[in-house]
Amino acid sequence: MNKIQMVDLKGQYSKIKNVVDASIAEVLDNTAYINGPKVHEFQKNLEQYLGVKHVIPCANGTDALQIAMMGLNLKPGDEVITADFTFAATVEVIALLQLTPVLVDVDPDTFNIDIDAIKKAITPKTKAIVPVHLFGQCANMEAIMAIAKEHNLYVIEDNAQAIGATYTYADGTKAKAGTIGHVASTSFFPSKNLGCYGDGGAIFTNDDDLAHYIRGIVNHGMYERYHHDVVGVNSRLDSIQAAVLDAKLPHLDDYNKARIKAANAYDTAFKGHENIITPHREGDEDNHVFHQYTLKVKGADRDALVKHLGEKGIPCGVYYPIPLHLQKAYKDSRYNEEDFAVTNQLVKEVISLPMHTELDDEQIEFITSAVINFVNSNL
Ligand SMILES: *Cc1c(COP(=O)(O)O)cnc(C)c1O
Repeated sequence: MNKIQMVDLKGQYSKIKNVVDASIAEVLDNTAYINGPKVHEFQKNLEQYLGVKHVIPCANGTDALQIAMMGLNLKPGDEVITADFTFAATVEVIALLQLTPVLVDVDPDTFNIDIDAIKKAITPKTKAIVPVHLFGQCANMEAIMAIAKEHNLYVIEDNAQAIGATYTYADGTKAKAGTIGHVASTSFFPSKNLGCYGDGGAIFTNDDDLAHYIRGIVNHGMYERYHHDVVGVNSRLDSIQAAVLDAKLPHLDDYNKARIKAANAYDTAFKGHENIITPHREGDEDNHVFHQYTLKVKGADRDALVKHLGEKGIPCGVYYPIPLHLQKAYKDSRYNEEDFAVTNQLVKEVISLPMHTELDDEQIEFITSAVINFVNSNL
């Protein structure tokens, strides 16, 4: 059996080495390392893939979130609602811009932001909601957009984990994750579903004026060379990373299918086990592209399971071990513990198993047997 990895970047690269190498070689040859033609090509190809009017590439997914919020002209003191159970980048940029983060609980099944909790958290100061499509599954965008419309709020989708997922509305219409809110951000961190070989990110929007404004923000606030109209940042996707991404983009749907196939195999192996709760999926199969495959373990010691799997050569992850509202940087006396019952429980139960495009049946059998055997003998 091949060594099990949390993410197998080398195995994936070996299958597309020729195209990736050729794409990088083009950049080395034309030396347009910054804002070269590859960046523009990738931008156009991603716009077409997503069915969105504007993709604005930038340096990473955290910058993408920050720049999206700068683009909306949110002001210090504006309240921004987001999930307690997500990667810290989401709340970090809210705080960095001196906006007021309002963390709310998540749904115990989908792990995504809880709709009733959003409603409860809205005040006259609320300006935006940031749903995170956690672990690759679309948040309940239809309900979120309805709340936003009613209260005149912006919706910023944090799509770092769900690129390529397809959201289906109640009437059957479909839209790619990241094209539904007013603006969205994504990350091309190597382990993400569409990853480059370094850092990268992008902002998506269908709003022409916002796109124009943001294109200036990412470039020192310039709309005309050496005319700095607004306070901006320097955040660029470099041409070599764009070359990697442009070579990988045509494979994204197949990569996501491979992840769904691995998730299905995991589901089958754990089916019916009372103490191993497999990820709940909403909607059609392409609604969840499995950035992570995350179980809830009931009745057995999750941390002991992590240790046991590690000893058997099975890497796994705990995303996320601490609720954001309990992190030193984001603690706030406004929060009440009883409002975070779900997140407080999830941090004790979740475990993410190896998930990538190169997992084979033998590896999945080895992993699932190890999990089941441990849980059965430690209840
Ligand atoms: C990865 C990630 C980010 C940040 O992306 P970087 O490219 O690492 O800055 C933001 N939000 C979520 C939910 C993520 O998973």
